Amino acid sequence: MINPVNNTRIAPTPSGFLHIGNILSFAITSALARKNKAKVLLRIDDLDQARINNRYLEDIFDTLNYLEIPWDNGPQNVQEFQNSWSQMHRMRLYHAAVGTLCEKGIVYACTCSRQQMRTAASCTCQAKQIPLDAENASLRLITTGRALEIRTYSGEIVRAELPAEMHNFIIRRRDGIPSYQLASVVDDLHYNIDLIVRGEDLWPSTIAQHELALALGENKFNQIRFYHHQLLTEASGKKLSKSAGSTSIKYLRENGKKPSDIYTMIGRMLGVDRRIDSWEELAGVISSDL
Ligand SMILES: [Zn+2]
Repeated sequence: MINPVNNTRIAPTPSGFLHIGNILSFAITSALARKNKAKVLLRIDDLDQARINNRYLEDIFDTLNYLEIPWDNGPQNVQEFQNSWSQMHRMRLYHAAVGTLCEKGIVYACTCSRQQMRTAASCTCQAKQIPLDAENASLRLITTGRALEIRTYSGEIVRAELPAEMHNFIIRRRDGIPSYQLASVVDDLHYNIDLIVRGEDLWPSTIAQHELALALGENKFNQIRFYHHQLLTEASGKKLSKSAGSTSIKYLRENGKKPSDIYTMIGRMLGVDRRIDSWEELAGVISSDL
């Protein structure tokens, strides 16, 4: 028997305007939540304060409201977000998780330059035994290399190994900010999330997060079901880029596009040539299951 789904989330990062790729992901999340009578949490990932911008924060609320995509938990506006829901309020939890991993002796400090950091393979810091509190050092998890079990939405168990380029991935950046992988695991556990919907490009992150949860001894993470959806691509087959302004909802809206125009446009990119009026209909294009 598969566990019921009670809580899922949408988790945009306010480092750019929301684009059509985000909307597809939100539509699928909302459809699965509705089908399972689950609650949707709006989690906004603002850990990297240097990259976020109030315009982008504002845009998340404007866009969700404009496209009539509902959510049940989390902030309703920027003010509520800043007062109670920012990741800054959960910093203690992230640092506690980093502390747990350090105490277990499965973390090492890395002083590789940004250039060297692109490939963990070239990092030889583990042997150097740099003190964990060294200045300007990032912290890396010593990954196990073993196959991890990941539960899909349909309840099937898929076994997967961490891709080589993610071996010993970073859990705390050299500037002291917890990594995306670490914060995402801590947040999903904190909010009792049991369904995660994300693009198939985030499959390596899903594996990394299982590795982290295992290292933290958080067995609950194993119960989370994952739905990885196909990505929207440009006509050329290229992945949509976040900086491509013409796919942002803000741009489309300023150019007179109504919600149904936007949903229809996304449907066309998925090969469906008919009018689509809502996120429910759009989700149905992806799968008759939704
Ligand atoms: Zn290193």
